[in-house]
Amino acid sequence: MTKRDYYEILGVDKGAGADDLKKAYRKLAIKFHPDKNPDNPEEAAEKFKEASEAYEVLSDPEKRQRYDRFGHDGMKGAFGAGGFNWSDFHHRGDVDDIFGDIFNAFFGGGGGRRGRGGPGRGRDVAVRYRLSLEEAFTGKVTEISFERLESCDECSGSGAKKGSQPQTCRTCGGQGAVRQSRGFFAIETTCPTCGGSGKVISDPCNACNGQGRVPRKTEVEFTVPPGVDSGMSLRIQSEGEAGPPGGQRGDLIVRFEIEEHEHFAREGADIYHEAHISFPLAALGGEIQVPTLHGEETIKIPHGTPTHKVFKLRGKGMQRSVNGVSFGDQFVRVVVDVPTKLNVRQKELLEEFAELSGAPVKASKGFFQTLKERL
Ligand SMILES: [Zn+2]
Ligand SMILES: [Zn+2]
Repeated sequence: MTKRDYYEILGVDKGAGADDLKKAYRKLAIKFHPDKNPDNPEEAAEKFKEASEAYEVLSDPEKRQRYDRFGHDGMKGAFGAGGFNWSDFHHRGDVDDIFGDIFNAFFGGGGGRRGRGGPGRGRDVAVRYRLSLEEAFTGKVTEISFERLESCDECSGSGAKKGSQPQTCRTCGGQGAVRQSRGFFAIETTCPTCGGSGKVISDPCNACNGQGRVPRKTEVEFTVPPGVDSGMSLRIQSEGEAGPPGGQRGDLIVRFEIEEHEHFAREGADIYHEAHISFPLAALGGEIQVPTLHGEETIKIPHGTPTHKVFKLRGKGMQRSVNGVSFGDQFVRVVVDVPTKLNVRQKELLEEFAELSGAPVKASKGFFQTLKERL
């Protein structure tokens, strides 16, 4: 069978750039996806492999140059003896989202993220971290204490009693995975006997019951970036549970939760605040001091300010984004307080005020009184 031209396979022209190649390759990945080819999966898989080979060559400048000059003859020796293999492919990440889990079926053990029978990775640990609005505003260096699985000291994480050794698993021959045929795919699944470790323990360690890991309290220092909000989380790499021997640690995921504030309500980057002012101040005008996350601010109250009027303090809110330098606004709603306790003199003055305003309080009859008299 004569080999097809790589450019033709991908459907791009000779001058195609990296973006064009990727776009074309992704299109083919969708076209040859096994879900779309239930009647001829083998053919689709073959074509996808062909496209992957073309993509591998053309996205490598050195290989591409060689191919442009010498064609397929120039590719002899570029791959192993049997030609292009999945283990030669380096761009799995470009189509990972299209294939999801079944990508492993295409790629088998090679080219994947984790080598066959290799040690696994510890699990991620999620913890909640509560902080005040002020702390979320300034950010801070802090410490969090939580429990995670650590490698067992007694057995160095092997799970086998001191002096004994874990045995190679017979089911998978130490590979940690078993191959199963499903349609044309040879799917590798985790070995059910050893759970993927490739080893079985006949004499388990007492300290960890053969688990190789034990729960232990620990403290991790981290930085809260300024501007965080409830529901946001921070991933701290390699601070999660210990993996099996030789394996990587999982990550620590810190989820933020901002406490309710006595004076401020937050909505995204904006802050809402309520300020109480006296009735004379609202009538005569003046100035008030209000707290903001940036410090005290002065607001000029014009005379005749009605209750519930909203004043905007531009740029006095929270960061618009984490670690951001641009800020939201603070909205201040004034509430005019009606005096509830008056001494004699205050009462006199208010009555005088009422009289002068043409709305005397003593002489006037209430609405219902007038209504009654009319009936
Ligand atoms: Zn142990
Ligand atoms: Zn096994």
